[in-house]
Amino acid sequence: MRESTINADRVEQRINRLAEIGKISDTGVCRLALSPEDREAVELVKGWMEEAGLMARIDAFGNLIARMEGGNPGAPALMLGSHIDTQPYAGRFDGIVGVIGALEVVQTLVEQEIVPPFPIEVASFCDEEGCRFNKGLFGVRGLLGRLEEGELERADKHGVTRRDALLAFGGDPERFAECEYEPGNVGAFLELHIEQGPVLEALDAPVGIVTGIAGPLWWTVDLYGFAGHAGSVPMPLRKDALVGAAQVISGLRALAVSEPGAPTVGTVGSLKVFPDSRNIIPEHVQFTVDLRDIDLARRNRLEQQLRELLDATAQEHGLRYEIREDTNSEPRYCAKRLKSAIREAAQTMELAPPPELMSGPFHDSLAMSYYCDYSMIFVRCREGISHNPKEYASKADIATGTELLYQTALKLILDAQGKDG
Ligand SMILES: [Zn+2]
Repeated sequence: MRESTINADRVEQRINRLAEIGKISDTGVCRLALSPEDREAVELVKGWMEEAGLMARIDAFGNLIARMEGGNPGAPALMLGSHIDTQPYAGRFDGIVGVIGALEVVQTLVEQEIVPPFPIEVASFCDEEGCRFNKGLFGVRGLLGRLEEGELERADKHGVTRRDALLAFGGDPERFAECEYEPGNVGAFLELHIEQGPVLEALDAPVGIVTGIAGPLWWTVDLYGFAGHAGSVPMPLRKDALVGAAQVISGLRALAVSEPGAPTVGTVGSLKVFPDSRNIIPEHVQFTVDLRDIDLARRNRLEQQLRELLDATAQEHGLRYEIREDTNSEPRYCAKRLKSAIREAAQTMELAPPPELMSGPFHDSLAMSYYCDYSMIFVRCREGISHNPKEYASKADIATGTELLYQTALKLILDAQGKDG
C-alpha cells in the first residue's frame, strides 16, 4: 500500500479525545442522543471543524454540519459523515470513525490546497442510534424532510419527550422547515463506518465496500393478560402475559433461523413487565422486535408468520395484543458509480481489491439513500463486536478506511473537473 495522505495520528487522537466524553469504563462510552454529553461532544467536533477552516453550524434538528465551499457554490454538494451519539453501553468507534474520518478528508483537502468544483459537507447527524426515543436516524431524516407524525412527543425512559430534549440541546422545532434540504442540495453521500460484523476479519481485509443496507422492521408489541395472586390462581385459569411473550421471543428466533444460510436476524432486545413483582402474575408485557433481511420478500414472509404466531399465542393464553410498527425500511442498494469510485480509489492506493458486503445494521446512509446516491466504506472490527465497550478497530485499519474515503473524494473531484474542463 502507498503512503497515506491523511493524518492517522490526528484521527486516532480525536477518536480517543471523544471517548473521554460520556466515558463509562476504560473503553466504554455512554453518550445518548441529545444528552449534555452529546452536546459537549458536538461542541468539541465543531471546534475541530472550525480549526480546519470550515464553516460549521448546528441546525434545528441537532445536526452538526460543516461546509467547505467549492469552485461552484451552486453545485450539488458531496456530503461525508455519520454520527457521534452512542448506545448506552457502547464503544469508541461506531459512527465516530465516520465523522472524524470525514473531517480528516476535508481537512486534508484544505491542507493540500485542493479546491473541489463542488461544495463538500461534513455531517454529524443527531440521534442515529434511536435507543433513547425508540426511533433512529432522527437528524438525517429531519434534514431530508422525512420526520413522521408524533416524533417529538416520543418520550424516553424518564418521561422526557424528544421535543424537550431537543430544546434543551439547542434544537428548535419551530425552525424545522427552514433547515430542511431541497432536492439536489446534495449529489452524493459517502459514509465510513466500522463493519459491526465479522465478515472483513474473516476475509483478512482492512476495509470493504458496502453494496447495500438491509432494512429493519421494528415493532413495539404489547401483550395484555390479567394479574392475579401467584399463589392462588390455578394454572389453567391464568392469563400470563409474560408466558405469552416468552413463546413469541423463542418463536422469533426459530423463524429467523428457518432458512439455513440466509442472513436473516431477529431480536427482542427490550422487555418491560408489569407490575413486575414475584408475587403477581404478569398482566402486561411490552417488548421490541427487530427483524432484518436483505431479501424483502423473505422478510415480509417471516413478518406474516410472526403475526400468526402472536395471534395463536394470544389465543392460547387468553391474551390481547397490540403491535406498533416503529420502523419499516426496505433494503437499499449503493450507487454503482460510487462503488466504482471507491474501487478505483483502492487501486490508486495499491490496496488489494476490497471485498463487497451487505450491511445488516442500518446507518445514516439508509435515510440518505432516499435523497441521493450513496455508498459506504466499512472498516474491519475485532470479532465483529459492536454496541459493546469491547468494540475495537485498529488505528491502521481506520487510517486505511479514511485514506480510501479521501482518495474516493479526490476521484469524484477529478471526474467533475474533467467534465468541466
Ligand atoms: Zn453507527
